[in-house]
Amino acid sequence: MNEEARHAGSLLRVADTSRRVAETSGRNAKIELLADCLRELKNRELAVAASYLSGLLPQGKIGVGYRAVQAASQVQPAEAADLSLLDLDGYLDRLESLAGKGSVAARRAQLSELFGRAVPSEQAFLAALLVGNLRQGALESLVVDALAKAFGANRARVRRALMFAPSVAQVAVAASSDDATALDAFDIQLLRPVSPMLAQTAESLDEAHSAFDDMQVELKLDGARIQVHKQDDEVRVFTRQLNDVTASVPEVVDVVRRAPARSIILDGEVIAMRADGRPERFQTTMKRFGRRIDVAQLQEQIPLTPYFFDCLYIDGQSLLDEPLSRRTPELAQLFPHSTIAHLVRPSADQAAEFLADALKRGHEGVMAKSLAAPYRAGSRGAEWLKLKHVHTLDLVVIAAEWGSGRRKGYLSNLHLAARDPDGGFVMLGKTFKGMTDAILVWQTEQLLARQIERDGHVVHVRPELVVEIAFNDVQQSPHYPGGLALRFARLRRYRDDKAASEADTISAVRTLFEAG
Ligand code: AMP
Repeated sequence: MNEEARHAGSLLRVADTSRRVAETSGRNAKIELLADCLRELKNRELAVAASYLSGLLPQGKIGVGYRAVQAASQVQPAEAADLSLLDLDGYLDRLESLAGKGSVAARRAQLSELFGRAVPSEQAFLAALLVGNLRQGALESLVVDALAKAFGANRARVRRALMFAPSVAQVAVAASSDDATALDAFDIQLLRPVSPMLAQTAESLDEAHSAFDDMQVELKLDGARIQVHKQDDEVRVFTRQLNDVTASVPEVVDVVRRAPARSIILDGEVIAMRADGRPERFQTTMKRFGRRIDVAQLQEQIPLTPYFFDCLYIDGQSLLDEPLSRRTPELAQLFPHSTIAHLVRPSADQAAEFLADALKRGHEGVMAKSLAAPYRAGSRGAEWLKLKHVHTLDLVVIAAEWGSGRRKGYLSNLHLAARDPDGGFVMLGKTFKGMTDAILVWQTEQLLARQIERDGHVVHVRPELVVEIAFNDVQQSPHYPGGLALRFARLRRYRDDKAASEADTISAVRTLFEAG
């Protein structure tokens, strides 16, 4: 391949970088490669390259599926590379806008033309990018660190900007700007949801006690995460995935609208409670968030109660950088009846009693939080620890096997994997337990829609579906790549509120193993 075609702004340069990142192990080496590529670019070229290298399309979903990409991959590749990043951007714009009658043929024609102008390595990159299967690992977080390196910006500032910016593309352009304040323009804003702070798993209260100098223990409710924004009379409720569900939960809107503050952003959990004060099952709460529902009728059948555990913003002021020890009193003052049950600086005995009581009352467990911690939007740090009584992990389905006997025709045995923070997924075992007939039907359909390749009776899928797996133990295993396997794994539920990037990591599994 001639070197000129690899110039800055060419698709070949980005495709090449992506391949080399995938082949390189070690986070720093990957970042170095990405930074070298991004440093050469500016404006729209930089924006799209940052997206592509993160495995994302700036256009979002453009409705090009696996089959269409497979068909386009059969097109004879070009002999010489001449596609620029902006050419690809143009094709994606056209594909996005082609909809409606006659669009199938027109879209197919665009895709064939694009693939026909690509050399083989670009074709491979395009195919992976379009089906969401770039294998270079932990994509967006690598690109963010590479942007900091490429443009001499502070890493923490770039990461923070990504939490509040609409996309990595905008962050890229801001990071490259001569204006030193460009990155800080992305900040928390009313009515614009931010990614919630997440928790790691702890094995025992002792672990939490030794992790934090000062801690707060809170009830952990098994409902649905909500982030509520209020600006004067306008209230909006968002899910953990940042979808607007305001219309589904009028009782939450009511509670927050009456709060004695002009503007607020709250984090909390909404849950259906039974008349006897015990929580309903998670599935019951989730019925309130169905697609086409009669809200008024369901509200009567399954009333919801919101419980708030954090306050991110109040009357024009962000509280994100304030410690939890300051945020909780603000919250309790605003919502004396809707603040989650909690203990501040409990003794070991008090905390143990609180946990035992939570479990006895049918709750999932408790959260232990560092009172000194700021609110780290979008991050799963060690400052929030969740404690549950059974082991569960949120794992990613990377493949599934066709069932036999009664399960013939259904994808049944799931291949389960933990996330590798350095990229990719590490298989930990398989399970066909815990599935109802309805789940078998549903998962077969969902898995086939994510199929990447078939290998005998195994269907490999895009690592997107997250499952909550209960298990009894972690054991050593010569069969699996991480050297660890789960014992007696069973499906608890599909976590369709979680993305694969939020699944538990192999390091969490290793810690569990070492603790056992
Ligand atoms: P998990 O989904 O198992 O990773 O646990 C984290 C989830 O627990 C959060 O996303 C919340 O939806 C939920 N949760 C329930 N109670 C609390 C609490 N007091 N603090 C934080 N999260 C909570």
